[in-house]
Amino acid sequence: MTGPIRSTCPYCGVGCGVLVRKTDTGVAVSGDPDHPANFGRLCSKGAALAETLGSEGRLSEPLIAGRRAGWDEALSLVARRLSDTIAAHGPDSVAIYGSGQMLTEDYYAANKFMKGFVGSANIDTNSRLCMASSVAGHVRAFGSDTVPGLYEDLELANLVVLVGSNLAWCHPVIHQRLAAARAARPGMRVVVIDPRRTATCDLADLHLPIAPGSDAAVWNAVLAAIDARGLAHWRDRLSGYAEAVEAARASDPAAAGVDLSGFIDLWCGAERVVTVYSQGINQSDSGTDKVNAITNCHLATGRIGRPGMGPFSITGQPNAMGGREVGGMANMLACHLDIANPRHRAAVQSFWNSPAIAAAPGLKAVDLFRAVEAGRVKALWVIGTNPTVSMPDADRVARAIATCDLVIASDIVETGVTRRADVVLPAAGWGERSGHVTNSERRISRQQGFLAPHGAAMPDWKIIAGVAQRMGFAGFDWPDADAVFAEYKTLSGIAGAQGGDFDISALTDEAPALWPQSPLRRGGRFFGDGVFHTPDGRGRMIAVIPQRQEVGMRLNTGRVRDHWHTMTRTGRAARLSAHIAEPFLEIHPEDAARIGLQPAMLAEVTSPGGRAVLRVLVTQRVAPGQPFAPIHWTDRNSAAGRVGALIAARVDPVSGQPALKEAGVVIRPYAAV
Ligand code: SF4
Repeated sequence: MTGPIRSTCPYCGVGCGVLVRKTDTGVAVSGDPDHPANFGRLCSKGAALAETLGSEGRLSEPLIAGRRAGWDEALSLVARRLSDTIAAHGPDSVAIYGSGQMLTEDYYAANKFMKGFVGSANIDTNSRLCMASSVAGHVRAFGSDTVPGLYEDLELANLVVLVGSNLAWCHPVIHQRLAAARAARPGMRVVVIDPRRTATCDLADLHLPIAPGSDAAVWNAVLAAIDARGLAHWRDRLSGYAEAVEAARASDPAAAGVDLSGFIDLWCGAERVVTVYSQGINQSDSGTDKVNAITNCHLATGRIGRPGMGPFSITGQPNAMGGREVGGMANMLACHLDIANPRHRAAVQSFWNSPAIAAAPGLKAVDLFRAVEAGRVKALWVIGTNPTVSMPDADRVARAIATCDLVIASDIVETGVTRRADVVLPAAGWGERSGHVTNSERRISRQQGFLAPHGAAMPDWKIIAGVAQRMGFAGFDWPDADAVFAEYKTLSGIAGAQGGDFDISALTDEAPALWPQSPLRRGGRFFGDGVFHTPDGRGRMIAVIPQRQEVGMRLNTGRVRDHWHTMTRTGRAARLSAHIAEPFLEIHPEDAARIGLQPAMLAEVTSPGGRAVLRVLVTQRVAPGQPFAPIHWTDRNSAAGRVGALIAARVDPVSGQPALKEAGVVIRPYAAV
């Protein structure tokens, strides 16, 4: 390593650029001042990246039934067992479950392998748990999965509304940018809509602690006011306006449980308004409707795709967006093409020169594991994620995986899946592999390798290609990750010729670049011209009928500032655990008194799906009946039990995204036996 290496943080969807320098004791990681996502800033997780490298706990060699094996033996076995399974039970008896941690090259290889050569779309990822409802909402409203705006819109807006988003802890660098803009522009206003008083509320001019799940009622109230006040300047460019307004007028704003009038006045009075939303909206069994309830308001007023205006889904995973671009989920085709469209399928099949192409959407995450449980999926390949922790009904998922005929696990460390797997394939981790990621504002950046892979570990794209070649599939002989990306860029040009607006074939610069790259729209926002990707070019308003809210003790789930998901990496840095060292349960004083809980006691939290034991934190940050627990701790790093096991597998009917944000629970003082 001579000068600093430019790379990208592997945690959240902000996609911050980092500089990696070699030091006497290892490497040092700092923020890249030239990266347009962060301009040199990092949060606590990104700043501790160098402390999370190292070999402790890493998988170093392929394992077959727990026995060390060479790559050729392991890949040949996987290829033979997959071929046998397909021959005996058909393509849909095979499934891949991947991760938003995968690089774009990994996603591309996995989707080409499954959809083009195995001939099944049974490939889904943990992005299904993260932003599938935003994808579905975008497609319904805009005719494509397109984020209209840019991060700078939050700085240019006069009003920023954060809905179901603890930006301060979950997307900290965007929060830093917003806080700086808020300090520099005294007229700017920030509103936080969240049942819980989070750290993000410290920045807010107004916090609306709405009833959990009442978001659609809130946004219907805004839409009814937009109509009543004559602010629907774009109604002639939209379809579905009358039906959406009728539904909005019929819904009950009192369901929000708070007075909305001040907020509605703010929203209606601010031309430059950005509405940011995250898991509080997406992780719901009506998440797609909630997304559309928000986009309805921006569409009606035309506050979209122009500086300082628009709805903005901030993604969780570092490459959730890149995965979407290569068709990384069961209902997508590469390059934003439509798997249900025969012309699109034919174009991709022709480009891949593949013998078959999946003709219908595959199984989404929850259904995929149900099919494993039912024995319909007989060979499961899990890449870079641990569904025995992160899926809802996690214990049931673990039991399903334990019964599967063939389990293949690619990962960097041991997990609940690798412990069960017939074949374990050690993957290269951050710093050991090169490729691309796309952040929440559509900016494509590079992750660069600067370390030798640990042991025999290989990048995921190369592992997939090795299996594909051994199955006799042509077109997987890429010499390196750049060749994978080059093929993907070429396909994006073909997709562009099919009428899509996603064409990055002209992308040559190694610097972070926004898509679209087409000459007319290069690096810009979408839809500010009032032209959408729907067949008639109109934006679509959706009539949203708010769902009835669940009652009783509902556990709210979320994240803490200094840990990432299941702590595979952040758990290695002692200073990150100094912020919050153990799992906890925030509970309102009234609930605590009624249940007999004192601060710092242990509480047992149960649901029909599982059990967790958590340290009690009595606080008015949460409302009565709305306790909160973080998701990070697992049975690997804590005896607490998994919060994921408490959550039932209810899904949004449009997107298939599970309602991971909440669960009906019973809480009692913990009595050790
Ligand atoms: Fe990494 Fe996200 Fe923090 Fe940026 S905000 S440094 S991408 S974790």
